[in-house]
Amino acid sequence: MNIHEYQAKQVLKGFGAPVAEGVAITSVEEAEGAARQLPGPLYVVKSQIHAGGRGKGKFKELGPDAKGGVRLAKSVEEAVAHAKEMLGNTLVTKQTGDAGKQVNRLYIEDGADIDRELYLSLLVDRAVGKVAFVVSTEGGMDIETVAEETPDKIVNVPIDPVQGVTEADAKALCDALKLEGEARSDGMSLFPILYKAFMDKDMSLLEINPLIVMENGRLRVLDAKVSFDGNALFRHDDIKALRDETEEDAKEIEASKYDLAYVALDGTIGCMVNGAGLAMATMDIIKLYGKEPANFLDVGGGATTEKVTAAFKIITADPNVKGILVNIFGGIMRCDVIAEGVVTAVKDVGLKVPLVVRLEGTNVEKGKAILDQSGLDITAADDLDDAAKKIVAAVG
Ligand code: ADP
Ligand code: MG
Repeated sequence: MNIHEYQAKQVLKGFGAPVAEGVAITSVEEAEGAARQLPGPLYVVKSQIHAGGRGKGKFKELGPDAKGGVRLAKSVEEAVAHAKEMLGNTLVTKQTGDAGKQVNRLYIEDGADIDRELYLSLLVDRAVGKVAFVVSTEGGMDIETVAEETPDKIVNVPIDPVQGVTEADAKALCDALKLEGEARSDGMSLFPILYKAFMDKDMSLLEINPLIVMENGRLRVLDAKVSFDGNALFRHDDIKALRDETEEDAKEIEASKYDLAYVALDGTIGCMVNGAGLAMATMDIIKLYGKEPANFLDVGGGATTEKVTAAFKIITADPNVKGILVNIFGGIMRCDVIAEGVVTAVKDVGLKVPLVVRLEGTNVEKGKAILDQSGLDITAADDLDDAAKKIVAAVG
C-alpha cells in the first residue's frame, strides 16, 4: 500500500526525523490560511499524487510552458495563485503514464534553502536477504539517470537484522553522502530513526529523494515516498487509515474486497487462475504465443462460487480485455465450483469476448458437464498449451 508524501512525512516525523512544516489542502479556499501558518518567506506547493517525478511533470490542461507539479512561491499570494492553477488539473509525470493523475490535494510546505540534494532509500535487498540503505550524493530529480550512467555513485549499505544500524553503518552512510559537521551528526541520528520507522511499520520501501543539506548545514527530509507490506497491514491500523482509494486501481480495490490476488496489467487477455505459480506460468505462455495478459489473478485455493463470480466480473469490466482464459488445476479447488462460478457470472454480466476454459483435477468431469450443459459459448481446452493457443487465436 502506498501513501502520499505529506502522510509519509507525518509518519517519519513521529519517529523524530527532520521534516519541514506543511499543511495539506483540498480546496483553493484553504490555500491562503495554510500558507499563513508557515514561517515564509519561501513556500513550496506540492501536488499530492501516488507517483514520483512531480517536479518535472506537466499539467495536461496548462500546456508545455506552464510550471510543473512542485512549485516554489516567494509570497503567500504566489502560493495561492499556484494552488488555483494546480488543483483539479491532471499531472503527467514519468511514473503516471500518459493518462496522468488528477491532483485533488496539495501540500503547502515551508521552503528550504538547499545546499546539496542527496538520495537515500531503504528497501528489502533480496540478494543479501537484508534491509539495505541505498544512498547517493547525486540526489534530486534524476536518480534513474545516475543509476544508468554512473552506478558507482550509488552506495549500498545492508543492515544486520539483529544488530540494527551500527555506528559503523551510520559512519559509512555519512561518508558515502560526504556529510560533515552538523549534517554529519544529524545523519548519525537520522539513519537509525529511518531504519526503525521502516521495521516498526513494516515498510517495503522508504525513499527520500532528496534528503537535503540546507545552507545552515542541517539535514532535512524534503521528499518522502513510502510503501507498506500489504500482508502486514492487519497490525497497523494507523497506517491502514492513511489509505487513499482514489489513487488506486478500482479493479484492484474490488478484488481486495473478495480477497483475490489481482494485479491490473496492460494486455488484452484476462486470466483467471488458481495458484500464484500457475498464474505466472499462464501469463508466460500467453506471452510465448504473442499476446499480453490483461491481469494477474489468483483466485486462491479455497475459492467459493461467489468469489469466482466476483473475479469474473472484475475481468470482464476491464475494457482492454478482448478474451478470457480460465486455467484451473483443481487440487483443493474443485473444478465444479469454478464451472458454476463462471456460468453464474456469464449469466449475470453476459459474455462479449471469447472464453477459453482449461480445467484439470478434482471433479473435472463434473465441471466440464456444467460448462457443456450451460449452453454458453465456451471453448474447452485440454492443457495449458492448448488453452493459450486457443485464446490467442480467438483474440486474433
Ligand atoms: P518529485 O520527486 O515528485 O519531483 P520532490 O518533492 O522531490 O518531488 O520535489 C522536486 C524538487 O523540488 C526537489 O528536488 C527540490 O529541489 C524542490 N523542493 C521540494 N520541496 C522543497 C522545499 N520544501 N523547499 C525547497 N525546495 C523544494
Ligand atoms: Mg523527489
